[in-house]
Amino acid sequence: MAVVTDEMLVKGVAFRLESDLPSDAKLLLEDFRLAVNNSIRAGLQARVTSRNALVRIAYKDFREQHPRMYAQHLVSAFEVAGNVLKNHRRSVRKGVTCRIPYVKRLLMKAENQAYKLDRRSGVIDLPIRAGYHVELRLVVSQYHRKYLDDMTLSLGSLTVLPNRIIVAFRRDAPKPFVPESVLSLDTNERSLDGVFVEGDAARAVKADFPEVAIIQQLHHDRRKRLQKKKAYDRRISRNLCRREGTRERHRIDYRLHEVANSVLRFAEERRSVIVLEDLKGMKPKRSKELNRRLSMWPRRKLHQIIEYKAQWRGIPVLKVDPRNSSRTCPICGRIQYSRMGAEFKCECGWHMDRHINASINLLQTAISRGMAGGLRFDPGAFQHDVMMILYEPAMAARSEPNGTSGIVGVT
Ligand SMILES: [Zn+2]
Repeated sequence: MAVVTDEMLVKGVAFRLESDLPSDAKLLLEDFRLAVNNSIRAGLQARVTSRNALVRIAYKDFREQHPRMYAQHLVSAFEVAGNVLKNHRRSVRKGVTCRIPYVKRLLMKAENQAYKLDRRSGVIDLPIRAGYHVELRLVVSQYHRKYLDDMTLSLGSLTVLPNRIIVAFRRDAPKPFVPESVLSLDTNERSLDGVFVEGDAARAVKADFPEVAIIQQLHHDRRKRLQKKKAYDRRISRNLCRREGTRERHRIDYRLHEVANSVLRFAEERRSVIVLEDLKGMKPKRSKELNRRLSMWPRRKLHQIIEYKAQWRGIPVLKVDPRNSSRTCPICGRIQYSRMGAEFKCECGWHMDRHINASINLLQTAISRGMAGGLRFDPGAFQHDVMMILYEPAMAARSEPNGTSGIVGVT
């Protein structure tokens, strides 16, 4: 995950440990969780959410309750509690009913001054209390080396979980490159469809991910069955459904990352600016989709992944208003009001795959608003016979991490 703070990009990289977490570190996790939950309670009572306010009202008591904890960790517990309280306050404001917040998960967070990481050996020196430290040995793969060896990245916070460690790497946001081509993509339930424009040539591109919708449907049906079967016990049914949801998200996330990586590799090699539709405010139209409220999230998630990865790598991304993009003729500008099939056909003679047509309109919008610099697009130059495949399911089937192959795998 990456977040942007004042042009500073942060990326969390997960590591496994060579051996089990030392028991002193496990105790530290328990203490940390206790401290977080106590400060949540103190914050609720005093109606404050900022770390500094929490420190003011609760530090003294806490010091007495946790006399042995390293002071920096205690401050970090206030920070975690502050974030929980802010989220809580947001959901209360939104009217989402919620219970008193409580952190169940065992975790601890250390700010970058509160631990040491030897980037060559992958050994972390974590203070537990004054004068007593433990050593955590990270399993370092080639993927991890990329981050550890890159000295333009600085170290941020450290998150310790019972079975893994997350190190935050930070860097200044690189300046996006000046694009030499455009990759405009229309985002659909099962694919990204678009047009790639380089010089005078324009070709259709496609990234196909039908499994995302299939996985969603599969888990949706399974949840429905669970609800019916366990109707006598709402608590069990709720827990099982939640577990289903987590599994579904993991399986879909994995594929979305693969799709995003392929798209970004393409854009980086050809120095393309990526044009996407702004999905904000877009709601499912049909009631069937409303029943399945989740159907928008993979698309939003895919955009999120593409955007933060692009930012990290300095690939420019443009977001444009998608209004009428699927109903407009890019040649004559006519807007159609009837629903159409797989192909967009216009009275002026233009016809095109409906999704690709939409991506052409997104590109036209970006160009007309002066967002694409000097890049131009001539629909007449479109090469109908060429389709470039950015991604297809076969690419994932080879590398599904949990051993299930194919789409409707056993879970
Ligand atoms: Zn037309």
